[in-house]
Amino acid sequence: MSELPSTARVVIIGGGAIGASSLYHLAKAGWTDCVLLEKNELTAGSTWHAAGNVPTFSSSWSIMNMQRYSASLYRDLGALVDYPMNYHVTGSVRLGHSKQRLQEFKRVVGMGRYQGMDLDILTPDEIRGRYPFLETHDLTGALYDPYDGDIDPAQLTQALAKGARDMGAKVIRFCPVTGVRRENEEWVITTPKGEIRCEYVVNAAGYYAREVGKMFGRDVPMMVMSHQYILFEEIPELAAWSKEVGHKLPLLRDVDSSYYLRQEKNGMNLGPYEKNCKAHWVTPDDPMPEDFSFQLFPDDLERLEWYLNDAVERVPILGTAGLSRMINGPIPYAPDGNPLIGPMPGVPNAFEACVFTFGICQAGGAGKVLAEWITEGQTEWDMWSCDPRRYTDYTDQDYCIAKGKEIYGHEYAMHFPKHYWPAGRDRKLSPIHDRIAALGAQFKPYNGWERAMWYARPGDDTSEEATQTWDREGPWARRIEEECLAVRDAAAILDLPGFSRYRLKGEGAREWLLGLITGKVPKPGRIGLAYFSDDKGRIVTEMSVMALEEDFFFLITAATAQWHDFEWLQTHMPKDAAFTLEDVTTNFSCQILSGPKSRDILAEVSDADLAKGWLTHQSAQIADRWCQLVRVSFAGELGWEIHTKVDDTAAIFDAVWAAGQKHGLKPFGMEALDSLRIEKGYRAWKGDLSTDYSILQGGLERFVDWSKPAFKGKAALEKEKQVGVSKRFVTLTVEAGDCDAPYMSTLWHDGAVVGETTSGNWGHRVGKSIALGMLRSDLAVPGTEIEVEIYGDRFKAVVQPDQPLWDPSNERLKA
Ligand SMILES: Cc1cc2nc3c(=O)[nH]c(=O)nc-3n(C[C@H](O)[C@H](O)[C@H](O)COP(=O)(O)OP(=O)(O)OC[C@H]3O[C@@H](n4cnc5c(N)ncnc54)[C@H](O)[C@@H]3O)c2cc1C
Repeated sequence: MSELPSTARVVIIGGGAIGASSLYHLAKAGWTDCVLLEKNELTAGSTWHAAGNVPTFSSSWSIMNMQRYSASLYRDLGALVDYPMNYHVTGSVRLGHSKQRLQEFKRVVGMGRYQGMDLDILTPDEIRGRYPFLETHDLTGALYDPYDGDIDPAQLTQALAKGARDMGAKVIRFCPVTGVRRENEEWVITTPKGEIRCEYVVNAAGYYAREVGKMFGRDVPMMVMSHQYILFEEIPELAAWSKEVGHKLPLLRDVDSSYYLRQEKNGMNLGPYEKNCKAHWVTPDDPMPEDFSFQLFPDDLERLEWYLNDAVERVPILGTAGLSRMINGPIPYAPDGNPLIGPMPGVPNAFEACVFTFGICQAGGAGKVLAEWITEGQTEWDMWSCDPRRYTDYTDQDYCIAKGKEIYGHEYAMHFPKHYWPAGRDRKLSPIHDRIAALGAQFKPYNGWERAMWYARPGDDTSEEATQTWDREGPWARRIEEECLAVRDAAAILDLPGFSRYRLKGEGAREWLLGLITGKVPKPGRIGLAYFSDDKGRIVTEMSVMALEEDFFFLITAATAQWHDFEWLQTHMPKDAAFTLEDVTTNFSCQILSGPKSRDILAEVSDADLAKGWLTHQSAQIADRWCQLVRVSFAGELGWEIHTKVDDTAAIFDAVWAAGQKHGLKPFGMEALDSLRIEKGYRAWKGDLSTDYSILQGGLERFVDWSKPAFKGKAALEKEKQVGVSKRFVTLTVEAGDCDAPYMSTLWHDGAVVGETTSGNWGHRVGKSIALGMLRSDLAVPGTEIEVEIYGDRFKAVVQPDQPLWDPSNERLKA
């Protein structure tokens, strides 16, 4: 056994599939001075008892990327590191019971194709060709994934560890980490075998991640579920069939019934995600044991009975088999079911690679991503979906438990665009929450803040069932249209609590900002959009910069970006800065007042100079309270953002609301705002704006000031400008059917995929379906006709001039 070294560049805490893959990928990147510390044997956590399914399917682009990468790594890994292992690529059949499910499958087929995978849709007859023992009478079809399979999780972990060791990295077993401390800009990791100093540390402690997180003062947002699968004895009919055809059955997932069924030798393995699920270690009478290595929970067959019966009806030969064994193990869940991979929020040189619910199929990709975070400070694929900073301060244990159970019980659910999941709600309420609720607001949380999505009228169907559709139509459709038209024709007000806001003040603040953003810093009294690039020229984020004085700013960004963007700013601050940066998000609230009548309304209630032009701001009084009136409009009409102190928000809203009535003032929600902004070509955070694209690809060159001597990303962007961009941001009008283009719909031209959408919606002012996207540069010419694939069907689309579809010269905005 290796001795504990006194120093290492990176220490990884936890030797499951994820820790081992992180070590392997660090070593592969040349970082061989890395040590993995495991408190027991490798695989002692969730890994040893995992079923080992390796799907590529995901409706998330980034997760699909990780899983695709894993599957391709696992194919060669055994030979690569000389550690043969059981990896069966059996393919899988994912059953669909409804039209909506087939639409979901078709969308994933499109995404898969774009990632170089040939997924396929099967008719019920074709399914039986792949899976002869199946009842298909009630199916609408299936998705066939030829890359799906299963791997032995312990062998996978050992192979990754061997590969890492062979390259020079170290694995120390039976070495629990008991504490950490920061000393001279280094981490000191404490274990019973001694201390080890390191530059970087990774929490890869699986379901113990929360305990390890506490050592860093970090409350990891997670909880632990119990998850089971049942192994069945040999089924002679299956054995005979397998022998005859020479292969196993593809893995079956009945996602609408919520289980998978896999051939295991000549028996079966049934793994349900049951609605009547059970969390563990969440109550005082069920404390988390100090050590649960290689242990299981007691079997709980009763919980799985419904699923067992359903599976027997689906695959009747299962009914002939005896039950041989059950596995009931701990499985960690983050509140959205995605893992945490990336910087540990607020903790220097510490990273997370933990809370994986699908850690076997994601281990390969996750190790790659984690290693990139550490060695390069950025990742090849935009990994916001897994970034630990997507959660902030609202994720206490009650929240994590409620969300974890909701996700587990809906593991295979379809995520419809207008379905707002009900668990873990009301974490943060706007000061006028009750008022807008009374107006019919249908809420959805953004960074925990409840925001109105659309306003229902009495009699509108706001049931959960009504939201189970990918279609544009639904109870919301007329209401969203009315809200958009109110913005166009009169005025409407949108409550926007939780807008992230940082106060930047002090000598040198302007100069520092100038070197960080790509463009100009506005003069005092003005506000402007600023883009932040990484060293590769890619889009890190966008903020509104409101200049109050020469060296005094408010930086305003998306609610969900709160911790991410703050950290970006903080890590780029010089150590000896004479200026300060402070997150003041919770001190303020915001209303968006937009529409041609908004000036008349404000004139009645405020003392402001309403003749001040677009992109200005001013302090004003409404209802004898201070507010900041900011002359911008994400909705693309004459309008102001009304920034208020939290305690004054209700009084100010009341005054504006009362004055607005005779001008036809209506409330509007985030759904309408999304429609309005897309008509203006305004980009949305982590849809249109992500590190998957460079500033130049994103069509943001007008926000680049090349004359500045230096700014972050300048060298890369200059180089890209010389060579020319491979793809370019475009606005498309789409002759769509019932659905607008969702994120990552593929763009086609001459029978080839030539780009992808980054967002899509219906524009009520222009009366068209609109998509924003990235298109091969040679085709990004106004008037070019292409096609957009939306849920499997292709629709004609036309590239639009590089200007807003609505009010191209911004006359209404500047009125
Ligand atoms: C029944 C069941 C079936 C599953 N089936 C699948 C499947 O088919 N496909 C799939 O992709 N996923 C599956 N999973 C999920 C999968 O098991 C996990 O996502 C995966 O194993 C997580 O790996 P990990 O490395 O993150 O965590 P773990 O395997 O839990 O590893 C964490 C390690 O950290 C160690 N550790 C903890 N604290 C310390 C400390 N203080 N110091 C040092 N070491 C420490 C632990 O001992 C442990 O070895 C299944 C889970 C269950 C329960």
